[in-house]
Amino acid sequence: MKHIIENLLKLQTIQFGAAAGAETEKQTAALRALIPAPILAHHDRLVARGKKGVAVIKGQTCGECHVQVPKNAVLTLMHGTDIQICGNCGRYLCLPEHVAPAQPPVKAKKTKSKAKPAALLQTA
Ligand SMILES: [Zn+2]
Repeated sequence: MKHIIENLLKLQTIQFGAAAGAETEKQTAALRALIPAPILAHHDRLVARGKKGVAVIKGQTCGECHVQVPKNAVLTLMHGTDIQICGNCGRYLCLPEHVAPAQPPVKAKKTKSKAKPAALLQTA
């Protein structure tokens, strides 16, 4: 069950990321093929409303709507036995450790955007 949420999260990272092109389209298609249709449909409904489909649990609250997540739900996610949905906002819940692999590319983008103004200053 864990890998489904991990794939959803990867999909979300791509969908909400600035990068677009043939490579991201390929990645999106590959990830969508791995996610069960009903889960993907629920995720797409949230995304269609401009929301993220996956929320990362912070402390013991939903990372998107900040409502407390029941301990049972957190334990279920830790055991990886089932998928949990936030009772308040309806997003799929995931634990912070599932996010770790997706973070480095985001950081790389930030450093790139920071480098641009410095380059402009040097030429001016
Ligand atoms: Zn929520």
